[in-house]
Amino acid sequence: MPTVETVRGAVEVTDLGTTLMHEHVFFVGTEYLQNYGSGWWDEEERVADAITRLRSVAAKGVRTFVDPTVWGGGRYIPRIQRINEQVPELNIIVASGYYHYTDVPLQFLNRGPGLIFDESPDPLGKEFVRDIADGIADTGVKAAFLKCAVEHPDPTPAVERVLRSVAYAHRETGAPITVHTNAVQQTGTWVLDVLREESADLTKVVVGHSGDSGDLDYLMKLADAGALLGMDRFGIDLYRSTPDRVETIVALCERGYAERMVLSHDAMCWIDWFGDDFQNARQQTMPNWHYEHIHDDVLPALRAAGVSDTDIDTMLVANPRRYFTG
Ligand SMILES: [Zn+2]
Repeated sequence: MPTVETVRGAVEVTDLGTTLMHEHVFFVGTEYLQNYGSGWWDEEERVADAITRLRSVAAKGVRTFVDPTVWGGGRYIPRIQRINEQVPELNIIVASGYYHYTDVPLQFLNRGPGLIFDESPDPLGKEFVRDIADGIADTGVKAAFLKCAVEHPDPTPAVERVLRSVAYAHRETGAPITVHTNAVQQTGTWVLDVLREESADLTKVVVGHSGDSGDLDYLMKLADAGALLGMDRFGIDLYRSTPDRVETIVALCERGYAERMVLSHDAMCWIDWFGDDFQNARQQTMPNWHYEHIHDDVLPALRAAGVSDTDIDTMLVANPRRYFTG
């Protein structure tokens, strides 16, 4: 039986169950936290809050929580392990990769193909491979997928380098890929072009944040290339409302694309992008942006609009299982 690595070790893919494909436990810059976090970060409070929130989403029937927090987003596995120990009913799958909209890590500015310290293959990609093959740092936890970001429609050479390093690690390990894209700017098209050129298996690619767009031609083109559409920002109403997001999924299901969509919120217990009191800021601006909005509101809306339970299961269970089956 094929297995997938989680924070608590390998799990059979048939045991993944209902899966949220893009959520973060935390998205907090490590260096920012260490130097400027004393006013707003209490480790024990944040861990306890995460345990409460994860138990609560598990109680809705979610069995697997896919967390694409990588370098650039403050990935810190020991904290996730500590939380997962207290929520054993939930599988947490973690990632390797790098998240930045324009740059490579400064540590790799001078090391790599054609650079001052000319190394090939790209040492950045080799770090990604190590996270997947050997585990992240000395935690014993292995990353099970790859993540990077292509936000701008005119990507920098650094962003292209990261994407190609992700493709390298995918070829070396078979790990699937999730790319943050800007669906309004349609950066997913460029992402798939590069990945195709890198001989990536496009059926193992989630074009993240596709649900921010309602352009069916754009979305169907990505799906027809084999990729999965990340309908994964439910609750981020400032970008797109839930009724609009639902309408697009309904339209795609009617056209037979349920097998090409996965659902999530891209939510987190804490992110350091919205000031020192994130949870209050979220409550004021995007109160639906939490792990339970899909089960509480989106699935009933999809059913009311005629989406079958079979299609819902396909998006929440079968597609994630297929994605993580090597
Ligand atoms: Zn995200």
